[in-house]
Formats: sequence, C-alpha cells, structure tokens
Amino acid sequence: PRYQSVALIIGVTGIVGNSLAEILPLSDTPGGLWKVYGVARRPCPAWTSNNPVEYIQCDVLDAQESHAKLSKLTDVTHVFYVTWANMHEEAENCKVNADMLRNVLNAIIPNAPNLQHICLQTGRKHYIGPFDLFGKIKSHEPPFHEDLLRLEVPNFYYSLEDVLFEEVKKKEGLNWSIHRPGTVFGFSPYSLMNIVGSLCVYAAICKHEGTVLKFPGSRAAWEGYCDASDADLVAEHQIWAAVDPNAKNEAFNCSNGDVFKWKHLWKVLAEQFGVQCGEFDEKFKLSLQEMMKNKGPVWEEIVREKGLVPTKLEDVGAWWFADVVLGSETLLDSMNKSKEHGFVGFRNSKTSFHYWICKMRTHRVVP
Ligand code: NAD
Repeated sequence: PRYQSVALIIGVTGIVGNSLAEILPLSDTPGGLWKVYGVARRPCPAWTSNNPVEYIQCDVLDAQESHAKLSKLTDVTHVFYVTWANMHEEAENCKVNADMLRNVLNAIIPNAPNLQHICLQTGRKHYIGPFDLFGKIKSHEPPFHEDLLRLEVPNFYYSLEDVLFEEVKKKEGLNWSIHRPGTVFGFSPYSLMNIVGSLCVYAAICKHEGTVLKFPGSRAAWEGYCDASDADLVAEHQIWAAVDPNAKNEAFNCSNGDVFKWKHLWKVLAEQFGVQCGEFDEKFKLSLQEMMKNKGPVWEEIVREKGLVPTKLEDVGAWWFADVVLGSETLLDSMNKSKEHGFVGFRNSKTSFHYWICKMRTHRVVP
C-alpha cells in the first residue's frame, strides 16, 4: 500500500491508544492511508491482535531501550503520546513522566526526517491540580477553558507540556497539539484508569454474589451534571489536530459535548448485567476500594466459570479511580475552542457508555 502518513502510538494498549489503533488504519481516516506503529510495555495482548499495527514492546522509561527500538523508525510522520506512569506522588510523577516523553522524542526527532506533528494527551487535571491535591487547593472555576493560567502547584501535565515545547524547537516546522479529555469512556483491560471497565467488573461481581448494585459515590455525581470523553472521539480529535492546519500548536479540551447524570448511567449498567439497581444513599459510606478489597478470588472464579479472557482484578478494576470519579463535584469544560477551530465531533454520553460496556462484553473481558 502507498502510505500518506506514518503514526507512532506510544501507549497503544491504553484506553485512547486502543481507539487510535483501531481508527488510524481505516481507509477513510483523514491523513491516510496510515501505517501504524504501536508501543507498549508488555507483550502484545490477544485483544489487540486484530488491528493492523506493528507492535513494539518497549519500556519508554528506559532511555537506552527507547533509543534502540524507536530511533529505527525513521519513517514516522506523527507521534500520538497517550501514556503515563502513576508514581502516586506528584513531584515523582513530574520527573518520571517528563523522562518518558523525553526518551521518546529524543529517539524520534533527530531520526525521523519527515516528522510533522506530535499529539500530547494530558487531561482536565490541568485545571484542577493533581489527584493528591484534590480539595486541598483553590482550583479554577468550571466550565474550564483552555486560556486559564496554570495553577501554582506541581502537575505532571505541565512538565509534559514543557518537555514538548522544548523538544519541538529542535526541528524546524515540527508542530504539536495538546489534548485535555475528562473522564474517558473506552476499552482497555490494561488502562490505569478505565471507569467503564471498572464498573463492569463491579457489576459482574454484584451479579455473581446476588447483591444490589450500590452507588458508592456522592450526591453531586448522582444528581448533578457530569460529562465524559469517548475514547474514539478523543482519537478523532487527535487525528483532526494532527492533519488540520487550523489546529496546529494549540491546546484543546476534548469532551463529548453533552451532560449526563450518573443515576441514569447506573440504570444502564444494572440492566446490562441483570442486577438490581441501587440508589444514592446518604448513609452508605463504603468506597469501591473497600468493597472490592478481597474480591480477587471471586473475580478468578467468574473468569473461570464464564470462560473470560484471563485478567487480574487489579488490572481491570481501578477502584481508586472509580471512587474519585463517582465521588467528585461536577467539573465541566467547554468545547468552544475546538469548535471555533473546526472540530465539531461529539458523542451521546449515554450511548457511549452503553457502547463501551458492550465492547467489554463482546471481547469477553466481562460476562
Ligand atoms: P492508559 O493507562 O489507558 O494506557 C497507558 C498505555 O501506556 C498502556 O498501553 C501501557 O501499556 C503503556 N505504558 C505504560 N507505561 C509504559 C512504559 N513505561 N513504556 C511503554 N508503554 C507504557 O493511559 P490513558 O488513561 O490514556 O492516559 C494517558 C493520559 O491521559 C494520562 O496523562 C492521563 O492522566 C490522561 N487522562 C486519562 C483519563 C482516563 O480516564 N483514562 C482521563 C483524562 C486524562
């Protein structure tokens, strides 16, 4: 085939990386035909093998390994950076994540003469600060827009941006874009933060044990307006920015463009797994992290009984993250800037939620 563009996805088995790996190779994707390289740390899992992606197992935290494996990819035209490491302490996050991005760009920029664009995915914590400071600092007031100044606290998103700005200077004509999704709805049994996947696993465990699907979150999340970022939409947004001159060298929010209430999605979840739908209950104080603490063997039993793709509970259940999402105040952003620059993509969040549940089930990650 005659390729127009060559993509390098860093984090190809992640929640957005997987969507990029599915969408980029399609014949009608803007900028195509695309040849696609995909990098992740672990061996290629069975559930991605259908995508026509050249899989490269590489730990991008290792500078030497990154150089050895990535400097050979001299035909890369576009980098999609959709990975991160969670060190739990923000100063450490800043260092490690900056190193990872620098290792990738040091291997690619001097060696890929046709490199045109780098998409960097960060997120909405740009406006509210890192997880470990939630509720402890004064953040911006929602709806968040891209012009808001950085907060005066360490944030690995700022470190990533600074590495990006520094590195793109090294090659004339090299462009960039920054993408800031909120909570991502997508598919990946390997994601550090997959809300839909985690809730599917929770619901499957409730079904198995014959318990009600209790809502372990806040009233604000149950009754207030929330939004989400569909992983396919985030991928489309990045591909748009990678090829459209109007989007060059800008940072953009990236959300579905509608609002929902968790009480409505909770019904969808309960119906899909055939469990009794719980309600918000002021007196119910347990977190998912507490409820799921000893469920490893139960999950093993479900996987065995139902013949699911083998997974470990700690890989598919990001309980700490689900607790943050379901426990938080509503924090909406604005898609005005994307629209003003020509991106009019959107998703219906309820449909999106249902779609990704079905995808988890079709791939036999959950029953
Ligand atoms: P993810 O956790 O879903 O996937 C990470 C990918 O990177 C996986 O393929 C993993 O194998 C790979 N990876 C991890 N460490 C690696 C290493 N050392 N070397 C090579 N590959 C490695 O990622 P994500 O959730 O898409 O996160 C990307 C960015 O998006 C992060 O900055 C995150 O904070 C942000 N974000 C995520 C969400 C969400 O809901 N998941 C929401 C908003 C923002």
